[in-house]
Amino acid sequence: MQQRRPTRQVVVGDDRVGKVRIGGDGPVSVQTMTAGYTYEIDKCVAEIHKLAAAGADMVRVAVPEKKDTDALREILPQVNVPIVADVHFHFQRALEAIEAGVHKIRLNPGNISDKDQVAKVIDACKERGLPIRIGVNEGSIVERRDKQKRLKELGGVFSDNPRGHLLAIMIAKLEEYLEIFHERDFHDIVISAKSIDPLVVIDAYTEISKRFEYPLHLGVTHAGPKETGTIRSVVPLGHLLASGIGDTIRISYANDPVYEVQDGLELLYILHLRTRKGAELIACPTCGRIQVDLFKLVQEVRKKLAEHIDIPIKVAVMGCVVNGPGEAEGADVAIFAGDRRGIIYVQGKVVANIPEEEILPRLLEECMKFQEKVRSGQAKLGEKVVEILPPDPIGELGSGLEKIAAGQVEKLAQLTISKK
Ligand code: SF4
Repeated sequence: MQQRRPTRQVVVGDDRVGKVRIGGDGPVSVQTMTAGYTYEIDKCVAEIHKLAAAGADMVRVAVPEKKDTDALREILPQVNVPIVADVHFHFQRALEAIEAGVHKIRLNPGNISDKDQVAKVIDACKERGLPIRIGVNEGSIVERRDKQKRLKELGGVFSDNPRGHLLAIMIAKLEEYLEIFHERDFHDIVISAKSIDPLVVIDAYTEISKRFEYPLHLGVTHAGPKETGTIRSVVPLGHLLASGIGDTIRISYANDPVYEVQDGLELLYILHLRTRKGAELIACPTCGRIQVDLFKLVQEVRKKLAEHIDIPIKVAVMGCVVNGPGEAEGADVAIFAGDRRGIIYVQGKVVANIPEEEILPRLLEECMKFQEKVRSGQAKLGEKVVEILPPDPIGELGSGLEKIAAGQVEKLAQLTISKK
């Protein structure tokens, strides 16, 4: 994991909705976009509330028509998260959104390129202290004849790269657009350069990070449904973030945008770029040793933890005692299941040995008790009272585990000894 690249910082929001710092020492933020029509005011407000509740730091809305920017005047006072207006084709929509009180503007150089129009938007943002994202999407950039010379130069720079021509176009377009901003001494800029191809995303952002000091908004455009879009998105974004590149992210799915927020936050949590707000759930994938309905249990535990735990407790749900102790080593609260029973550990100490149907309520109870102890200073996250030791499989869990452990006795004994 590399240190984050130093960048300028822009601030999105105000005292009422909160201020999100993008770049500099600001934490990497997560944003998403509403899926519904902005002009449907009540629905739009409800969707923004839902996305903010899921953890979105900013929410973007599309404003293709005047009725959308008109709606912003009613939407903005009702929401509690910074709102970004997504503007394409009509620079006038940007001016209207700014006038309505939006907190940031996104412009697409591929479809708003007239210098005078862009200058008007820049001046209006400058007057109100609003940042602008320059969003260069692979799908909407167009080669300009008058930039052929620069394109040729950049093409030479990237000649070894199979994606070099596209990179050259993206960089040339950015340079050309930035000239307009620099001429007006405007630097509250965030840059994005999205593509559907994860390798283009990695190359483009890596190159841009070397050339410009502005904070970067990472994303893969049109990543598809969550089932396949997750991998398409987290591979390049994870690579870039682990390389210290990226200041705000948006994961794009053809699904409810709540998933975008959840997965974006999870990516930042696992890379230690943000502190988790709720419990972290570790679970085994199950195998032929399983003797409880672990998949169902894990889903129920996940749901309950999300509802009741708001500190980063590590909870492990393991299918058996064979490998469970090692896999749950880092957990604050753990359960090892077997023979339709479960053994619950808190800070490495056994606190219960219960039948399968009691696992969920008892595990939740122990998690909530542990949460209270942490809050009152009686326990610390990650601290073990004793080391987790695998129980005697036959004595603790009965004959079912006896069968399970038949071929594992030696391994268990070794594990027990190594723990001692
Ligand atoms: S913890 Fe047990 S049941 Fe789960 S995958 Fe490991 S060995 Fe299999």
